[in-house]
Amino acid sequence: MPVDRRKLIKGLAVAGAATAAAGVANAKIRPRKTVPTDAVGMLYDATRCIGCKTCVVACKQANDMPPDSASTGGLYDAPIDLNSKTKNIIKQYQDGEKQSYMKAQCMHCVDPSCVNACMMGSLAKRENGIVTWHGERCTGCRYCGIACPYGVPKYEFEKSFPRVIKCEMCSHRIAKGQIPACCEVCPRQAVIYGKYSGLVADAKKRLADFPDRYFPKVFGLEDGGGTQVLYLSKAGISFENLGLPDLGSDPVPELQQTIQHGIYQGFVAPVALFAVFGAVMWRNRRAQEKAGEVKP
Ligand code: SF4
Ligand code: SF4
Ligand code: SF4
Repeated sequence: MPVDRRKLIKGLAVAGAATAAAGVANAKIRPRKTVPTDAVGMLYDATRCIGCKTCVVACKQANDMPPDSASTGGLYDAPIDLNSKTKNIIKQYQDGEKQSYMKAQCMHCVDPSCVNACMMGSLAKRENGIVTWHGERCTGCRYCGIACPYGVPKYEFEKSFPRVIKCEMCSHRIAKGQIPACCEVCPRQAVIYGKYSGLVADAKKRLADFPDRYFPKVFGLEDGGGTQVLYLSKAGISFENLGLPDLGSDPVPELQQTIQHGIYQGFVAPVALFAVFGAVMWRNRRAQEKAGEVKP
């Protein structure tokens, strides 16, 4: 009888949870990460975005990224998703009358699973909370790409000396007193940069002032342990509609570590290892299914 891949993946994930439960009693409590004091971030407000993609062009220029003309047969730079040439993308959600744009880039997680997964310390969370990549230590294992719940880190397979590509919130510009390129050029201030605390207050105020305009939640305050890129969505359009996964409020690395404790303390490596991969695949699969509702 053919194996149902979806059931297999979910079964592996359940096995992972059971393995984790066995090990959790002895597992060391992982300290909960909080937003750094000097945290900066971005707020994207889908009600303001007109889909002009000026931010996509500016991101390419500011980060010296090559054109991605694969979707146009070499004619235009027209990326359709995040990839090794594209750190920032605007997508569109459409369902009958309901329509929204969606800006995708690194979320700069409060407790980033890419950092947690990188055994070489090639990814780091800076004092201001921006997550950056440091190539000198990278082995190209690409665990970061597997671990990220948003599918962000991409790898330059096409290059002799590949890099991991992801938004670093234009740290090179911030270091010079500038703001991220996408935020600088946006004609609608649909994406803005600032101190994290100020962005949170701003987002909450918009919800309070215009409850009929917005979906009643700020994405990123708690999701997956929190993110320093925050989102507001239009009324009637959930964040899952926009391709953002429902992660709950626990940090993703806590799930990973709990399962790892189950592996090493239970000495059931083969089963548990498949369970870890199953858990990751199941979670990513859910995210991909949700993202499938969002068209480039
Ligand atoms: S520049 Fe601003 S309005 Fe235009 S697509 Fe980007 S976020 Fe939306
Ligand atoms: S979104 Fe992904 S790549 Fe960005 S910080 Fe979070 S885990 Fe890392
Ligand atoms: S902050 Fe910089 S790298 Fe990140 S999406 Fe904006 S322009 Fe691109």
